[in-house]
Amino acid sequence: MNAPIHPIEQLHVALPDLDWVTETSRIARLSQDFSWFSPVLKRQLSGKTADAVVRPRSEDEIKRLVALCARLRIPITIRGSGTGNYGQAVPLQGGVVLDMSGYNQFLWARNGAARAQAGIRLVELEKETRTACNMELRCMPSTFRSATLGGLFGGGFGGIGSINHGPLAARGNVLGIKAITFEEEPQVVELRGPDALLMHHMWGTNGLVLEVELALAPAQAWQEHWWCSRRSTTRSTSAMPWRWRPASPSARSACWPRPSPAT
Ligand SMILES: Cc1cc2nc3c(=O)[nH]c(=O)nc-3n(C[C@H](O)[C@H](O)[C@H](O)COP(=O)(O)OP(=O)(O)OC[C@H]3O[C@@H](n4cnc5c(N)ncnc54)[C@H](O)[C@@H]3O)c2cc1C
Repeated sequence: MNAPIHPIEQLHVALPDLDWVTETSRIARLSQDFSWFSPVLKRQLSGKTADAVVRPRSEDEIKRLVALCARLRIPITIRGSGTGNYGQAVPLQGGVVLDMSGYNQFLWARNGAARAQAGIRLVELEKETRTACNMELRCMPSTFRSATLGGLFGGGFGGIGSINHGPLAARGNVLGIKAITFEEEPQVVELRGPDALLMHHMWGTNGLVLEVELALAPAQAWQEHWWCSRRSTTRSTSAMPWRWRPASPSARSACWPRPSPAT
């Protein structure tokens, strides 16, 4: 008698058309985020690795993957760009890392708002809004060049621009989201206004965010500068990006250090 095949193999067999990452080293890398900033988390999370990583490109692919994972009881960990620094994108019990970077279409920008798929990088989203209507995102984490829209919504707080507009969760910043539930028969829901925030800062634990609609602000001519210092305690050089609007120094927003590669 043949041995029963592992649930992960069942996934591969049932969904061969999906974009699977198969190299062990890439699976290990995509199973980590910036939690290594913390010596405690680094110790606790080292070696936590997914059994598989998949990079869906369409809602249909996400739906089929989520449904089968629910049926086979395979844990799913959602990943944007993995710049979160508390281990929110690290799979604690194997399973599948669902890498959202391929689900990244800009949808529209008009009337002071924009909508895009969750895997779009914030820097790309802002390029689109500037081109479409000369508007910018209201708040940006200092990781905006690599971080995704879904990652900011699922695990972020705010950033550059928050002095003027508050954190992402402040009223009127998030206008709506489209999300999918983790069930054998997944439901796709649209949540508007305050209801959208039910999935904000939930780290993908109560569903997967497919699209986010944000309010915008008039575009400013920001200047970006790098500030480097040698810290006496660590003897390391730290580089901090600053982005500010020269016309109004009172609106300056400081931000955190930009991440360097995890390895
Ligand atoms: C040096 C440094 C500076 C930072 N500065 C800031 C800052 O200024 N402001 C700030 O708010 N944060 C900051 N962060 C934290 C982090 O960069 C941001 O929160 C960023 O927006 C996360 O985006 P990401 O795409 O990397 O998400 P990830 O790290 O991949 O994911 C973050 C969380 O969201 C979940 N998630 C991702 N996509 C989805 C989705 N589609 N649906 C549901 N859940 C999802 C993940 O499972 C995870 O729990 C910083 C981090 C570092 C390392």
